[in-house]
Amino acid sequence: MRETTTPVSAGLDARAVELLFATTSDAAFVDCGGVIVAVNRAGADLYGTTVEALIGVDTALLVPEDYRPRIVERVERLRQGLERDRWAEEEILRADGSRRDVVVRSNPITFDGEPAALVLIRDVSEHRHVEKQLARRNEIQRVFSEVAFALAMADEDELDDVITANLGVIGRAGGVDRTSVTLYHDNGRISCAYEWVADGIERQIDDLQDMAMAGFEWSGSRLLRGEPVHVPDLDLLPPEAANEYESFARWDVRSWLVVPLMVGGRAIGDVGFNAVRRHVTWTEHEIDLLLNVAGMIAMSLTRRSAARESRAARDAAVEANAAKDLFLSRMSHELRTPLNAVLGFTELLLRQPRPPADAMMLEQVQSGGRHLLRLVEDVLDISRIAAGRVSVMMAAVPIDEAVAAAVDMAVRAHDGAAPRIDVATSGAMVMADPARLRQVLLNLLSNAIKYNRDGAPVEVRIEAGEQVRISVVDHGIGIAADLIPRVFEPFDRLGRETTSIEGIGIGLAVTRSLVELMGGTIEVESVEGEGSTFRVALHAIADTARPSAPARPSSQPLRSTSTDEGDVVAAR
Ligand code: ADP
Repeated sequence: MRETTTPVSAGLDARAVELLFATTSDAAFVDCGGVIVAVNRAGADLYGTTVEALIGVDTALLVPEDYRPRIVERVERLRQGLERDRWAEEEILRADGSRRDVVVRSNPITFDGEPAALVLIRDVSEHRHVEKQLARRNEIQRVFSEVAFALAMADEDELDDVITANLGVIGRAGGVDRTSVTLYHDNGRISCAYEWVADGIERQIDDLQDMAMAGFEWSGSRLLRGEPVHVPDLDLLPPEAANEYESFARWDVRSWLVVPLMVGGRAIGDVGFNAVRRHVTWTEHEIDLLLNVAGMIAMSLTRRSAARESRAARDAAVEANAAKDLFLSRMSHELRTPLNAVLGFTELLLRQPRPPADAMMLEQVQSGGRHLLRLVEDVLDISRIAAGRVSVMMAAVPIDEAVAAAVDMAVRAHDGAAPRIDVATSGAMVMADPARLRQVLLNLLSNAIKYNRDGAPVEVRIEAGEQVRISVVDHGIGIAADLIPRVFEPFDRLGRETTSIEGIGIGLAVTRSLVELMGGTIEVESVEGEGSTFRVALHAIADTARPSAPARPSSQPLRSTSTDEGDVVAAR
């Protein structure tokens, strides 16, 4: 069964209607058979005419044409009692042809015995306008935050596509037909980099390459100052903007908005919006949002170019470094060959009987040559270590042998009076690369001799435990506490380059790298003016091959005579 409402059968006459009209602030009229039979003042005002002019008017004529069939049908349904009274949203037509948004309510009545409708109308145009604006504002805000998010999240490689896609999103939300990003180059030329066009609109991007910015002085000067340029109607452009007018008129642009892409107070480009099919006016709020979006685009583009630049710089640095390492390693190889020849032949010559003066000179050649060879090898090592090309061959090494060999080499390499080196032995075995361990000890010993006080001994102490700790102790100039963190830095001589003590500052850097490659650690303790202790710790191995020899502080003769205390004075 169909739900119906009983028409209000209140019988009203003209007098009653007049009273009713007086009690309402709404516009009201009585429709009897589709014609107005009574209307109040507010009603006349709403329609923009007079009470008299409205009496007898066909109510269908009071609504826009496209509404008429619906109204007629509703009035009929109301009359038959098929529809309840309710406020309905409608539009009405005023005498001057303008439209207003209204809400309408029709109440069935009997007027002077005839079925009629009492119609109440409320003007909600202002309200609707504000509502529509708010809805657009919300929508635009939503779209823009989505765009900002997409830009912020875009990968470097996706950025181009993301910008183009989002130009479309902004363009559609703003109701324009073409959106583009133009980038400004340092040479005063500008080029369109990204473009979105609505369906049916021609692309312009290819025509907008490498143009002189000076050609658009009117808009360009504003954009460079960071100001947007908003032209809701192109015909209203001032004469100074003749160039702008000409280029846009060519594409039938009616409205134009362009906002600068600002980075650190500098315009690096702009985002432009063209409306072709209708005029578009942007509100200040929308322009503000667009400035933000432009800022995001600018930031993404700069971030990407900065990342690309730093990658290129890093690649160049890596390449330069590789070239330097290659040079160092080739150079030291080249130096090593003739040096080995010098050393080899000197050795041969020294084996034959010679007058002492000749032998002394040859020994000088030999010692100088060895020193040079060590420097060359250090340089070769540091470049190999930097390139990660040094490997160690680990083996069980008797620490005493390694120390003895290193002491021997240190003594031979030393010019001038024979240094005194007191060596303790321990019988311990360590896990190490034998040649590299010798090199480490030799470096520490050479430094201890080099930086020692004249006549003071150098001591080698060994403590065996889970680790074997070998300390090389001198009583020389020492190192100031604030310089200690720099001792292992390559090429840092801690200011000693101004002294007569020779060196190139890489021995300790190589030493530390080698110790670490062998799984050990190195540390330094030093008191300025009193001396230094460099301590290397390496993994110990239990020696099953020979009876374990407890660490004993006795000394062993090296190449020369024992002193009374059992210490050794190593001599050349
Ligand atoms: P080099 O001795 O060729 O300068 P190193 O790398 O061997 O280079 O040492 C780096 C720096 O550490 C030296 O220049 C020196 O200032 C300081 N140094 C090294 N060993 C000692 C030491 N035993 N006593 C005092 N200073 C030292």
